[in-house]
Amino acid sequence: MNEKSYPRLICHLNRLRQNAAAVTERCRRSGIQVAAVVKGANGQHEIAECVAKCGCAQIASSRLSQLERLRDLGLPTMLIRVPMPSEIARLVRGCDYSLESDLSVIERIDEECARQNRTHSVILMADLGDLREGWWNRGELIEAAVRTESLPHVHLAGVGTNLGCYGAIVPTAEKMEELASLAEDVEAAVGRKLEIVSGGSSTTFPLIERGELPKKINHLRIGEMILVNYDFPQEWGLKHMDYLSTSVFVLQAEVLECRVKPTFPQGEIFVDAFGRKPEFEDRGMQIRALLGIGGLDMGTTMRLIPRDGSIRIIGCSSDHTIVESSRMLTPGEILEFDISYSELLLASSAADVTIEYRDD
Ligand SMILES: *Cc1c(COP(=O)(O)O)cnc(C)c1O
Repeated sequence: MNEKSYPRLICHLNRLRQNAAAVTERCRRSGIQVAAVVKGANGQHEIAECVAKCGCAQIASSRLSQLERLRDLGLPTMLIRVPMPSEIARLVRGCDYSLESDLSVIERIDEECARQNRTHSVILMADLGDLREGWWNRGELIEAAVRTESLPHVHLAGVGTNLGCYGAIVPTAEKMEELASLAEDVEAAVGRKLEIVSGGSSTTFPLIERGELPKKINHLRIGEMILVNYDFPQEWGLKHMDYLSTSVFVLQAEVLECRVKPTFPQGEIFVDAFGRKPEFEDRGMQIRALLGIGGLDMGTTMRLIPRDGSIRIIGCSSDHTIVESSRMLTPGEILEFDISYSELLLASSAADVTIEYRDD
């Protein structure tokens, strides 16, 4: 018997290709280059390889370990988490571009470049209110740009910003105008044009669709829209994104048992597996199944979306997921789920989740 292991993450490469091509083509028409961000799928080589052929300018990730595995794709690599000073030697060796937010780090990169006889391109990040990485003071960023321009081995490629992460700040046309005007100030200070003005991530894409992105913005770093377009259009109020597939990834989990059981635990209620005091609603006896997938595989399975409408997720612990079903299931039966971006991030790097690639 051909034994398959579960949980299993199916990646439909044909749908991935369709999404990557649709996004880069729409960006290209607006004069925008795309760095394809593959951190959401653990920088899996098959996935990055597929995306790399769809018109993007760079392959990007927050993790150097992923980019080091992707050097053979023939595209420039971009580190999008500002580097740890302890990883500068690896950065210079394995990466062409990085996002930066500290002048002393850029100076150390320059020294390391001299040591390795290499050059490295940097994008200086401006914090426009989301309060994660980036210079807060405009004057200081411009000074850092001038200093970077004077360094012999580091190349000032441009400026950028990141929104919609910590502070959940919406990339509005006003925020993008702010970045555009900062880019112009930096250009005036260094006396030349910048190649890259990087306006953010998937959350900036709606501005292109609405024709509101300033011309000066010529680069985006896009992951979620290409990999998992599931909850994106709803959250951002977009309706006409039917050119993007919502099911590049499908998660499969196996049924371990199925019984009719009470919905209200019997006995004295204390705390659950995570030390929380749970609350239950008594809905009498119901058909319940146990699945061999849990928090260890993706933090929580509560956000998975069953593809079978008769299945509802009731609970999860580290290794189990409990579902309610309107029909009896049998042990060994496989249930399918749509997976959101944050769960994909974990599932694609989990030790016990098998990834299967299909191209049909
Ligand atoms: C993750 C990340 C991105 C990509 O974000 P998506 O939502 O996946 O498009 C872009 N830039 C930075 C700095 C990031 O950390």
